[in-house]
Amino acid sequence: MRILLIGPPGAGKGTQAVRLAAHLSIPHISTGDLFREHIDQGSELGRNAHAHLRAGRLVPDDVTIGVIEERLARPDTEAGFLLDGFPRNRAQAEALDGLLADSGSKLDAVLELEIPEAEVVERIAGRRLCRQGRDHIFHVDYSPPAAPGVCDVCGGELYQRDDDREATIRKRLEVYRSETTPVVDHYQAQGVVTAISAVGQVQEVLDRALIAIGHRRDDASGV
Ligand code: AMP
Repeated sequence: MRILLIGPPGAGKGTQAVRLAAHLSIPHISTGDLFREHIDQGSELGRNAHAHLRAGRLVPDDVTIGVIEERLARPDTEAGFLLDGFPRNRAQAEALDGLLADSGSKLDAVLELEIPEAEVVERIAGRRLCRQGRDHIFHVDYSPPAAPGVCDVCGGELYQRDDDREATIRKRLEVYRSETTPVVDHYQAQGVVTAISAVGQVQEVLDRALIAIGHRRDDASGV
């Protein structure tokens, strides 16, 4: 299956994407993660992208589309993939459609995660990530680690993303409203969008997502 998971920052896209991709045995492709890898490696692309990430702005389309084109060309995507964070504007959606059409395919499903904006700021500002496992995600209030700053899963160091601070979160929300909601409209016109509530426990949201793509609720157990 070729799936896009879309929703405002703080909706839990990363958390759900990792679980859904594992459940469906398809690669999870996050442009945000790809940029952060480049930044950590100190590549030229990473140096260019860093200022945009820090400011909560979108990285220019030519760079972003280049990164995704290279990723989708790898053989592990042949049986499907789950996109998280791309496309984020209409031009990227059209570029993606073009790339997929070249290989005779298209997106099978777009899952739109919905969440009230007031909840987003609280969720993101308290989020802490692990330097060693990208799906080891904590929250200072809602799912605090046993020892502050230390990952319960692997002992790795927890940190706050430098774009997870309040001023940047507001900017990212604004960018989502103006740039990314047209992507939802774009795919609505193709009849592939299902909106699901992102409010609730991780497993509840995952169940909703699996049902939306035609998997039974009990398929979700053990994920
Ligand atoms: P995320 O991890 O998806 O929240 O993305 C973090 C940041 O990476 C965003 O705020 C943007 O600066 C950049 N980014 C990720 N995906 C894209 C994209 N599709 N287009 C442009 N910038 C992106």
